[in-house]
Amino acid sequence: MTFSELGICPEILEAIEVLGFETPSPIQEQAIPVALEGLDIVGLSHTGSGKTLAFSIPALESIDPSVRAVQVLCLAPTRELAVQICREVDKLALFLDGVSAAPIYGGASFGPQLAALKRGVQFVVGTPGRILDLMEQGELRTDNISMLILDEADEMLDMGFQEDIDRVVAQLPTPRQTLFFSATMSPAIRSLIDSLSENPTEISIERPVLTVPTCEQSVYEVVFSSRIEVLSRLIEMGRMKRGLVFANTKRVVDDIVDGLLARGYAVDRLHGDMPQTLRERVMDSFRKGCLNVLVATDIAARGLDIDDVDMVVNFELPREPEDYVHRIGRTARAGRKGRAVTFIGRRDFSLLARIERFVGVRMQREKVMTGTQVEQVRRESLVDDILELAAQAHDVPEELRDLEIDSEKLLTAMFNLLLQKTSRELQPIPEDRPSRYHRAADNAAPVDKGQDWSNLQETATLFMNGGKLLGIRPKDIAGLLYNEGGAPKGTIGDIRIFLKHSLIEVAPEVVQQLTTALSTCSVCGYEVNIREDKGRPEGGNARREFIPGGTRRAAASWQGKGSSYRPRRDESSYSSRNGRFRGDRDFREPRDYRAERPDRRKSR
Ligand code: AMP
Repeated sequence: MTFSELGICPEILEAIEVLGFETPSPIQEQAIPVALEGLDIVGLSHTGSGKTLAFSIPALESIDPSVRAVQVLCLAPTRELAVQICREVDKLALFLDGVSAAPIYGGASFGPQLAALKRGVQFVVGTPGRILDLMEQGELRTDNISMLILDEADEMLDMGFQEDIDRVVAQLPTPRQTLFFSATMSPAIRSLIDSLSENPTEISIERPVLTVPTCEQSVYEVVFSSRIEVLSRLIEMGRMKRGLVFANTKRVVDDIVDGLLARGYAVDRLHGDMPQTLRERVMDSFRKGCLNVLVATDIAARGLDIDDVDMVVNFELPREPEDYVHRIGRTARAGRKGRAVTFIGRRDFSLLARIERFVGVRMQREKVMTGTQVEQVRRESLVDDILELAAQAHDVPEELRDLEIDSEKLLTAMFNLLLQKTSRELQPIPEDRPSRYHRAADNAAPVDKGQDWSNLQETATLFMNGGKLLGIRPKDIAGLLYNEGGAPKGTIGDIRIFLKHSLIEVAPEVVQQLTTALSTCSVCGYEVNIREDKGRPEGGNARREFIPGGTRRAAASWQGKGSSYRPRRDESSYSSRNGRFRGDRDFREPRDYRAERPDRRKSR
């Protein structure tokens, strides 16, 4: 089944193509044609099933662009969900001229929300309380509303919105179409449905069991060129005794294997082009424990029957959430514990969020372990190994019997010798630096000369000197970049709009083209400039922490730190002019792996 078979209009089909969705999900397949006929729907489906598209597409099609008034009202339990739905609607409406959506939620100032209503948005997504407020103030007029959507209705009832919903619904005109979505069914939900709709078509999508709780899932933000090194560090720390590493292409699989072999690890590959006999041989070695690490593509791993993998590493984010589930399903099998580690780049945040929503788990953000931490764990692990062997050692070897040497000295020398023999020299990577703001691996030492790891996953940021104050929305910018800048599909990432400026993530290869074509251009009737955003230089005009009673330096001495005051971590790592602070906000300090190791010494 394809999207075009669902009866969707060409403008939305084009937007779906830009978004990169190829086939409709089951809820989309079942709900869209019914909703396009104008019928009511009750969809029982979970987050991650693609329900937002399932209701947004028919809703957008029901809108008359020439009418500048609210025509679709969508109620959602939280501000985050409302904003997220609006983003998807905006993307779908990329080629629908004169159609726009706005989120309306409590806890934020009324100004921008009223402005959006005055501007004539047709698709409003909001939390019930604020929607009701604006309706009662006469700011949100309901005369033209012909479709009501309830998203995550069970969540809204759990949050106590029943009365607000009833009051909102009471003010809506009839007849109207109602699309109702809930992850669960209960008597309260059933009676809400009955009060909203007479004979809705019910569509139920079973939630598959996606991931197991014994699998610990974490994420490292790592530039592509550092990933082999981080992978090696995971192996070095003994975190991966039998690991499966996934990459999206055969080429990257080959590069990983070459990189790890060059570092001396027992590793092999598995990809679709290999003859069956060779694949079986590799799997056999892996099963027998002759290989530490097996590197595979998704296709090659289908049907892989190995159930004691202790770690799965996603060297790259899979393109589809389903692949993530298949990949990590290789660990934590049969009640065992397992870990899934995923490497992401700056461009992957929205895909990561999509995967998280799909599996219904928020992965733990972690910072890459530094060389010093790896070294420390390695030393301790060596002591553990020595102690383990010591417990079984009985006879002193002949050669050591008559040595006239102090036993402490002997032990120290042996320890150093072992350390030297088992040590691998760590490569410096940009992630070792204290600041999280770095432009790719500009200044970092090359990781593995001779391999082409060049900037594959990097993004560049464009700066535009216009934002919310000019009424600019993401779709305006996306339209500008695609239509006037000639950006190829898939080269535009996150678009963030601030009061007076906007930041646009793009693939580095289109920076030159876009900054040349759009250095001066027009958006929403205003002339603006687009140039590459170089960010805020380190040590530059960093954000100041508010400290009561004086300047930062004064506060330092007030805290008794005097001249030894060191800037807070966020001062040095403050990234770019927008104040977004992704690295340190999302990413935890590296784990204390030592604390996680069983302390075998204590038990002796
Ligand atoms: P939802 O259930 O609406 O929260 O959607 C979950 C995620 O799946 C969102 O990030 C969507 O962008 C994505 N998605 C929705 N429909 C499709 C599709 N047909 N193919 C691939 N991804 C999709």
